[in-house]
Amino acid sequence: MKNMEKVRCLILGGGPAGYTAAIYASRANLAPVLYEGLQPGGQLTTTTVVENFPGFPGGVDANTLMQGMREQAVNFGADIRTGVATAADLGKRPFRITIDGSNEIQADTLIIATGAAAKYLGLESEKKYMGMGVSACATCDGFFYRKKTVAVVGGGDTACEEALYLSGLASKVYMIVRRDVFRASKIMQERVLKRENIEVLWNCNTKEVLGDGFGVTGVRLLRKDGKEFDIAVDGFFLGIGHAPGSELFAPWLETDEAGFIVTDGFSSRTSLPGVFAAGDVRDKTYKQAITAAASGCMAAKDAENFLISGE
Ligand code: NDP
Repeated sequence: MKNMEKVRCLILGGGPAGYTAAIYASRANLAPVLYEGLQPGGQLTTTTVVENFPGFPGGVDANTLMQGMREQAVNFGADIRTGVATAADLGKRPFRITIDGSNEIQADTLIIATGAAAKYLGLESEKKYMGMGVSACATCDGFFYRKKTVAVVGGGDTACEEALYLSGLASKVYMIVRRDVFRASKIMQERVLKRENIEVLWNCNTKEVLGDGFGVTGVRLLRKDGKEFDIAVDGFFLGIGHAPGSELFAPWLETDEAGFIVTDGFSSRTSLPGVFAAGDVRDKTYKQAITAAASGCMAAKDAENFLISGE
């Protein structure tokens, strides 16, 4: 028999979007309950120093920043819990969310801030050097590769954006593209091809990330014509897309072809009244801590307005 509990505002996700939603929702007396999911602190905890979050001129440790957001929400009364949503029934209000397969929460409003996860190739060597030269976030880690050589995998807008960003820091950037064409928009392609220190390696797949036990030293590539060769690099960046954490909710909500939750214009309102989406689960373009935090604020305010209007 499941335990059952009813709440006015349930927030799923322990990243900048979820915590910020909890700060605003608790200050609005919505008595929010937040479940942190698999990665408390969110994607940011996979990086070290955050240098682009406003208000920290000297940068801030990513875990310290997330801990601060969490504490701020708790100080205003948010009930933050460990647990993962394992099932959802959004067929009627109150919405029913199962946590860890056992507890059922019934919620008048639901804020989905479950984020997105960068896709990886799935190689053992990639896993081994994660955080030691392998990264899926150029804006977070690019700084460490000033005047060095890096590789970016992928041929979409994300990979092009990462390569362009890195080309301003690193002395040389290789793009590893598995076909003989980019998937990226024309304008991004043109920018990449114009940049002198970016070299595109067409028709290439990564066989292995090479390292010396302490960090990345190179990449072994396999070209479509069967030729295998190594390139020397200090950093290996993934740019093959992100997968949003929307699977559980997709049967009830409008999502785009990649699974990102669709919201109504600038708001956080999803296609289902009473359900709001914030952060990377709805954002495939900006994907920053500051934009996620801002959309968490919007979701809490949208939930508050929804409850006040008594829809
Ligand atoms: P995409 O799905 O558009 O592109 C993924 C790229 O990675 C493709 O080139 C794909 O190759 C390649 N790829 C996928 N899996 C592998 C693999 N296992 N090994 C090697 N290569 C692989 O994802 P993006 O994240 O680039 O973009 C997602 C969406 O977000 C798009 O709509 C994009 O326009 C948008 N976006 C917009 C931005 C902006 O406007 N500034 C910035 C970033 C994203 P293949 O082509 O062969 O499938």
